[in-house]
Amino acid sequence: MIKAQWPSLDKIVFSVLDGSTTAESNVSKALALIEEHKEYNAVIAPIAERSMKRAIEIDSAVKNGEKVGKLAGVPFIAKDNFLVFGAETTAASNILRGFDAPYQATAIEKLEAEGAICVAKANLDAFAHGGSTENSDFGTTLNPHNPTRVPGGSSGGSAASVALGLAPFALGTDTGGSCREPASFSGCVGYKPTYGLISRYGVVAMASSTDVIGILARDAFETAYLLDILAGKDGKDSTTIERKSSYNIESKPQKNLKIGVIEQFMGEGVDKAVLESVQTAIDGLKKQGYSVETVSMPSLELALAAYYIIVPAEISSNLSRYDGQRYGFSAAGAKNLEESYAKSRGIGFGAEAKRRIMIGTYVLSSGYYDAYYKKAAKLRTKIIHEFDEVFKHVDFLVGPTAPVVAPAIGQFSDDPLSMYLLDIMTVPVNLAGVPAVSIPIGKVDNMPVGLQIIAPIHKDQALLELANDCMEKN
Ligand code: GLN
Repeated sequence: MIKAQWPSLDKIVFSVLDGSTTAESNVSKALALIEEHKEYNAVIAPIAERSMKRAIEIDSAVKNGEKVGKLAGVPFIAKDNFLVFGAETTAASNILRGFDAPYQATAIEKLEAEGAICVAKANLDAFAHGGSTENSDFGTTLNPHNPTRVPGGSSGGSAASVALGLAPFALGTDTGGSCREPASFSGCVGYKPTYGLISRYGVVAMASSTDVIGILARDAFETAYLLDILAGKDGKDSTTIERKSSYNIESKPQKNLKIGVIEQFMGEGVDKAVLESVQTAIDGLKKQGYSVETVSMPSLELALAAYYIIVPAEISSNLSRYDGQRYGFSAAGAKNLEESYAKSRGIGFGAEAKRRIMIGTYVLSSGYYDAYYKKAAKLRTKIIHEFDEVFKHVDFLVGPTAPVVAPAIGQFSDDPLSMYLLDIMTVPVNLAGVPAVSIPIGKVDNMPVGLQIIAPIHKDQALLELANDCMEKN
């Protein structure tokens, strides 16, 4: 399902270390692939100069026998809401055009410290608001399996980059499904960690109580390898948590593990062929020896409503900093400060950001707070309790990642509510803060289908071990 442009991560590193290839040739290859696949619009900006410079430094370090790290000479792509040197950081919004990062995101720094090289910034829905990349001010990314379809979103550029093989892996963010859903639509692995496991320092905030950084990769094994590098406490992000020992895939999961199939995700509203494909994958788990049972989680049906109140509320607050004074675009010709704010925000923000700012401001305003925000917050607590309860009986949960395969470009772009419905299976995970992963399991209509696996909080390593076992079997 993924264009085989690159060997495995360990092979790339070994050949840089033993001199059979160079970091420089890896970067040249990635930049050439990006150029070659330009029509997919997966990438907003390549980072040519800086990545070449870093590659040369790594190659000379190898020659001098210096330590170069676990990702020496490995190119990767970062969603354009990560602060990265060498290209603008726009979050795919006009309001940030022209913004050069004054520092780099912790995740980027950690990967660079191991010798990885960020070769490009990937396209996304502006400010990560969306599930298709159609909300990008830089145009829609095309699905690698069928260019008339969306790649998913909001990390659609990252997922498409991995599926096209532009680089062996990419970073994304997942506030309500933005790594898992595009992974499902584009046919790669999309992982969302336990809330707080990877530092968000230097990433453009969307909704701070659910935002996490995620990984788009070719398989679960490499995802775990990357997580082991990225996980851990960061003094610059007070929401980060201590890492557990290792996140690498070390053993096969015990076959006596119990897997719960979420009843609410296996019926009405889900495409029949997607359901069949997911059922086949679940039958495969049974054949592998896992014990599989159906579990009911009735409050999940309310998660979407809660999400689309809580998240816009946080967005309206996080986006207040874009006032045309401090970052990026500032409208000319304003007579006073207030007019400058209004003009800059009016021109700079796209329709979806404005919609969310208005909903968010409304649900937080006095008189409506109790009716909307407070109710949604209570619902969220109920959802968290439901996950806690169900995880007393099963070790993992499974179901489809999305109710359909990738829609056609334009199919939902004028219908935000139908677009929001695509998130129905991914948002509960963010509200609860638990880890989850989407793995490719097959095709419907020639388009990839994803299986979502959800684990209890902190069980990220076990989650990826199960995903790995499941993928090896497929
Ligand atoms: N599609 C969801 C939304 O529009 C999720 C976005 C995300 O995870 N960044 O909010």
